[in-house]
Amino acid sequence: MFIDTRRVEQDSKIESTVCIVGGGVAGITLARELERKGIATVLLESGGFEPDDETRDLYRGEDVGLPYSFADGCRGRFLGGSSNCWGGWCRPLDAWDFDKRDWIPHSGWPFRLAELAPFYERTHALLKLGPNNFDPGFWEKAINRSDVRRIPLVTGNVRDTVSQFSPPARFGKLYRAELREARHVRVFLYANATNIDTDPDGKRVTRIEASTLTGRRMTVSARIYVLATGGIENARLLLASNKVQAAGLGNDHDLVGRFFMDHPRLQSGSVKFSRDWSRNKLYDIKYHYMNSAVAAHGTHIASQLALAPEVLEKEKLLNARVWFNSVFPGEGSEGAQALFRCKQALLQKEQAGWSLSQDLATMAAHPVDTVGYGFTRLFQPRALIRSVRFQIIVEPTPNPDSRVTLSPTQTDKLGMPRVQVDWRLDDQVRRTFDRTLDLLARDMRQSGVAEVTLDPPIEGGAWPASLEKEGTWHHMGTTRMHASPQFGVVDANCRMHGVSNLYIAGSSVFPTAGANFPTITIAALTLRLSEHLARVINHISSGLGAAEVADAVHADAPSTLAAAQVAADATSVDGRSDGIPLPVERLKRARSVLISRRFQTDSA
Ligand SMILES: Cc1cc2nc3c(=O)[nH]c(=O)nc-3n(C[C@H](O)[C@H](O)[C@H](O)COP(=O)(O)OP(=O)(O)OC[C@H]3O[C@@H](n4cnc5c(N)ncnc54)[C@H](O)[C@@H]3O)c2cc1C
Repeated sequence: MFIDTRRVEQDSKIESTVCIVGGGVAGITLARELERKGIATVLLESGGFEPDDETRDLYRGEDVGLPYSFADGCRGRFLGGSSNCWGGWCRPLDAWDFDKRDWIPHSGWPFRLAELAPFYERTHALLKLGPNNFDPGFWEKAINRSDVRRIPLVTGNVRDTVSQFSPPARFGKLYRAELREARHVRVFLYANATNIDTDPDGKRVTRIEASTLTGRRMTVSARIYVLATGGIENARLLLASNKVQAAGLGNDHDLVGRFFMDHPRLQSGSVKFSRDWSRNKLYDIKYHYMNSAVAAHGTHIASQLALAPEVLEKEKLLNARVWFNSVFPGEGSEGAQALFRCKQALLQKEQAGWSLSQDLATMAAHPVDTVGYGFTRLFQPRALIRSVRFQIIVEPTPNPDSRVTLSPTQTDKLGMPRVQVDWRLDDQVRRTFDRTLDLLARDMRQSGVAEVTLDPPIEGGAWPASLEKEGTWHHMGTTRMHASPQFGVVDANCRMHGVSNLYIAGSSVFPTAGANFPTITIAALTLRLSEHLARVINHISSGLGAAEVADAVHADAPSTLAAAQVAADATSVDGRSDGIPLPVERLKRARSVLISRRFQTDSA
């Protein structure tokens, strides 16, 4: 059900079992799952069904680090969030992205890829992807075209990988009817969470305060709260909720907002393909979205190149992905940019300040560039390609000094401090750019695929002008996950350390970013969170004691640790303990009782 918060009674007090803040990929995914499980849920979404300038303005802030844009088309603030402007690239993280790599400080997740595998599988239906198969050989065979071929990789240093494209799923539209018909989920539109209230010692959330831009206020009280406002805003809301703890909620160890990451992206080099490979479309971004050639099983795909994990380890590099970008005539001209914006609008992609009439006038003023660019983008004649460049994104190093803080001087219309973003990238990132391209160029030369002229190395120097100042729009790391509260804001189940009933969904929990795009991992983590919350709520409702909860959880949870966590969450959410996990010995005992019971049942 949708409710327009601008029309609710002033100072309404809403109650629910779960309160989710933010209706993007994470928030909507969680709401759908809770609806299926019959759990009463309130979802607070800042925007409405369409973008509007006043709401969009709430995302503006100050950039105090590397030149970096994070508003106005770099995030969407209405139902569906940034899925209203995302490109749809999807690929799970690599297995080693979860590892603690000794050459990357602060790297590693508290679990391995296998933990997320069943949830990655389920994202395929959610994100409208093809088969759960990322094997390049599988896709080459399925596409079966002479101009879509894997290049030979001869040195063993380089591997090829596949990403699938979501159509792209725009969550606010795709799942709107479902949310409208929902029996257990109430979506409050135009409801901006402005503060998270807690009990006097800051260990338990008591309510969320929300307001509309028209001045309507309300509060939501729930047993469990989930923040899903995106990688920058999750930190902002916690830092701004500082009535009880001056440094912000859950910020005892000064970690909230730190470790901000995005994938730095740039273009480099000049690639001259040999005759045999000049028509190949598999790795070229210009052929990925619109062209039907690089598709099979109803799904568009893209291939990228990456260094083998052994090379990353030996050379102490970060993960990275590289693909080609063919440059056509007119590209970058005013007419081409106007035409591109019109295409984006046709794809319903959110673009701040877009005006059809203005762009039509620009195109009319530059007819040659516009028509030339339009023609080449439509038919992509290889004969007209002016040059081919590498496009590369690199895994950012988790860096505590790269951070989101609150502006000391600026507030938004709701009175919330605006954000300051200080995006930093270190020399390890620069070295990874240089070395990845170098090894790749060597491989391509050796295999006779292409001659490559590289741009000058960037290690030790200034960032080149081609560094995209929007990063790749992947805002990660500001409420990082770690088993210990000293090193992370949330635990392995996305629950905030030290706050018994507050969870966080989205890429702000990523402790390490890898080099794959984040949304499929956001979705997988959220599906996993929904299972965890359902178990916790189930056990709260059962009224069992902690040891019985642990016992019961073993019926459907795989490990002692999982049972300990659910039992601890259930008891602390319910106010029966302070969230300290149960003694392991007691849990083990409960487990062995259960196993012996199961054994007896099986034998019978
Ligand atoms: C141009 C662009 C291209 C992209 N391409 C890709 C891609 O190809 N592949 C990929 O994996 N990722 C891509 N991304 C990133 C992807 O869009 C995000 O990772 C994803 O949408 C994040 O989902 P989320 O639900 O965590 O947060 P968001 O999508 O940011 O959703 C947060 C929601 O919370 C709401 N909100 C914010 N503050 C409040 C508040 N105080 N109270 C109430 N509601 C609030 C917002 O309105 C929004 O609806 C791209 C992003 C952009 C901008």
